[in-house]
Amino acid sequence: MKLEDYSLVHTSVWGQLYRGIKCNICGTEALNTEMNERSVFAYNIIIKCTSCNNLLNEIYSNLRINTDESNRPPFDVNRRMVGAFLSLGKGNSAIEQFYMTMVIEGSSTTTYNSHLLKLHEESNHFKQRILDEARIAVR
Ligand SMILES: [Zn+2]
Repeated sequence: MKLEDYSLVHTSVWGQLYRGIKCNICGTEALNTEMNERSVFAYNIIIKCTSCNNLLNEIYSNLRINTDESNRPPFDVNRRMVGAFLSLGKGNSAIEQFYMTMVIEGSSTTTYNSHLLKLHEESNHFKQRILDEARIAVR
C-alpha cells in the first residue's frame, strides 16, 4: 500500500495510534479523538486531551479537489465514490445503501448531483480531447 492510496479505517483504532503518548500541557495520557465537519468519507480529525482540553493535533482525513471554483471544494474521496458507483451502473440509491451498510452518514441529493454534474463535464472534456487528438493524428 502506498501512502497516496485510500483505505477504510475503523475509527475505533485511532486511539491505539497515540497510546502511551502524553499531553504536552498536563502530562496525562487522557487523549481522545473527535470527528467534526463530516462530509461522508472525509472529516476533520481532532486529538484532544480530555483532562485539560488541550488540542494536540487536527487534520482532515482526505484531500479536497484542487479547483478555483470554490473556497471549500469537495473532497476527492466523495467524488471518487460517486464515480465508482457510476462505473458499476449504479446511482445515488445504491450509494445510500452502501453508506447504510458501512454506518456512514451520507450526503444530500444536491451534493450527489453536484458530483454527477462535474463527472459528466470531465467526461465530456476528456471525450473532446480524444476527438481533437484523433483528428490531428488522421491528418
Ligand atoms: Zn492535557
